[in-house]
Amino acid sequence: MPYIQEEERKNLDKAIKTISNALTHGDFRGRLNYTISKLFSNLLHSEGMSYGLINDFIGVLECAKMEAYRRIAVPYEDSKIASNGDVYPPSHVVIRNCIRCGANGDTFSKEGVCLKCIMKEVGYDESIKSIDRYDNDIAELAKENNA
Ligand SMILES: [Zn+2]
Repeated sequence: MPYIQEEERKNLDKAIKTISNALTHGDFRGRLNYTISKLFSNLLHSEGMSYGLINDFIGVLECAKMEAYRRIAVPYEDSKIASNGDVYPPSHVVIRNCIRCGANGDTFSKEGVCLKCIMKEVGYDESIKSIDRYDNDIAELAKENNA
């Protein structure tokens, strides 16, 4: 969770700006790795070696990675799908279980929901054993879900 309070950001931003300027010229990869490693080394030196610190540091790296992926990489990848075309089939084609009730099946909505759950959502009463085959609401629902 990088969204620390404004006051805490102010204390760090000047030093981060200096490091960022040093990383922007040439290949940043090795120097960024060095910077992160040196920060870890300094923490180990000041806090003392422990499994807790190692675990916490790796956890922070993992969370920072996942947040960067969620906020930056996902929208970028989605824009590339839109401009260059997808590789994967739509998820409702490859799923085998309803995302709501978990029922196994072959036919799902684009959101991955089975017909039974869709019918429940629109108020279908399971106790009714027969329905009018020309019921407009159901015909429209079927049309929407097959579009
Ligand atoms: Zn279902």
